[in-house]
Amino acid sequence: MKPIQLYNTRTRKEETFVPLEEGVVRMYTCGPTVYGPQHIGNLRSQLFPDLLKRFFLSEGFEVRHVVNVTDVGHLEDDSDRGEDKMEAAARESGERAEVIAARWTEHWRANREAVNCLPPDVVCKASEHIPQQIELALELERKGHTYRLPDGIYFDISTFPAYADLAQLDLAGQVDGRRIEEVEGKRNPADFAIWKFAPAGVRRQQEWDSPWGRGFPGWHLECTAMSSLYLGAPFDIHTAGIDLATVHHSNELAQAECAWDVHPWVNFWMHNEFLDFGGAKMSKSLRNVLTLNDLADSGFEPLAFRYFFLNAHYRQQQTFTEEALAGAARGYRRLLAAAVELREAPGESDPERAAPYRSRFRDALAEDLNAPRALAVAWEVARSEALSPADRRDLLLGFDGVLGLSLDTAVPAPVPRESDPRIDALVAEREAARRSKDWATADRIRDELTAEGIVIEDTTDGARWRRE
Ligand SMILES: [Zn+2]
Repeated sequence: MKPIQLYNTRTRKEETFVPLEEGVVRMYTCGPTVYGPQHIGNLRSQLFPDLLKRFFLSEGFEVRHVVNVTDVGHLEDDSDRGEDKMEAAARESGERAEVIAARWTEHWRANREAVNCLPPDVVCKASEHIPQQIELALELERKGHTYRLPDGIYFDISTFPAYADLAQLDLAGQVDGRRIEEVEGKRNPADFAIWKFAPAGVRRQQEWDSPWGRGFPGWHLECTAMSSLYLGAPFDIHTAGIDLATVHHSNELAQAECAWDVHPWVNFWMHNEFLDFGGAKMSKSLRNVLTLNDLADSGFEPLAFRYFFLNAHYRQQQTFTEEALAGAARGYRRLLAAAVELREAPGESDPERAAPYRSRFRDALAEDLNAPRALAVAWEVARSEALSPADRRDLLLGFDGVLGLSLDTAVPAPVPRESDPRIDALVAEREAARRSKDWATADRIRDELTAEGIVIEDTTDGARWRRE
């Protein structure tokens, strides 16, 4: 069997995966900041580790997966300025920060469940791990990695020569490009807050006592502190969207390696690429956030989105358009229809006949989680005439343990009525021709549409059309 190869951001190459403890994979995923709804681009950062986890499970590993929920300390600006996103949301809405956090944590959880992400073994909230974060900050202080400024305690990256390695940062360039709104007094532009003081005269909803005074933890502290609490240090895999690699992960890593003298703190750093919306950046501040619920409102099932996700390699930018999603929804419906037909297939499968398909499916995933290739093998099985229905049934339902498309239980959704003004008009014209018994015109229109792959169904409510 081919070894599992995974692309490691830390070394910039594909490497053979060997767990630190035999048979066990410890992985950590950066989760949501829960001040608003998660958009479908964020969901890709959850679907990717889920696919990875499912693959490890299918390989017989025990997987310990920890995902955090950021409910304090994430500022609007990455350079330690701006308001805490939770506090800003609370001020705008007049609600308690905890109420907002609870609502959007539940929304995130429900979204994950809707796209069949397995529940993480631990979901940990930053606000519930303040003592661990203070302890980590103290350790960094004891070892001489911090300094104090009027607004907080900062990590001095010059005390950690390997700081730039993970993201391959050009730190000299950062000095020249230093932004004028930087926090005054920082020793290096990339220094970051590990503890922020509650601003004078401002009563924050979320603040705690600490050895440095009342305040709240810097955003990067939580992932280092909580991952080590639940997974130990070092651990095997850390995942997130690629946007977190440069600042957040460089900072997480600096804190861990300096506090605990451990290197490498994380063996494999794995990052998924963006979901691209045709050049438009989707962000909550731009108020153009597309959520899974919006897709449902447009008639798309959540699992059609999972199928869409599987059509691109996780390290590829994937372009989201409604047409692309509609195509994925059709693909998913067809694959599900094939599975439904096979569910009741009688008889036993032949392991020998099935083996080559199984190993090709497995090897596609072992090669840096190549989901599109694995999906292609599933399609080959669904259509194969060389395999018996029982072979196809067992293979397809087996693959689904990794694909997570509910091929064994999902009920095919009714085909949504599409609308296309040109086709609607042609169908109406055909209806009119039929009413006036102009069969030649009615047949001509039908033939034209058939040639385009459009099927017309005459129902008691009139004619409907769908794509083949
Ligand atoms: Zn993180």
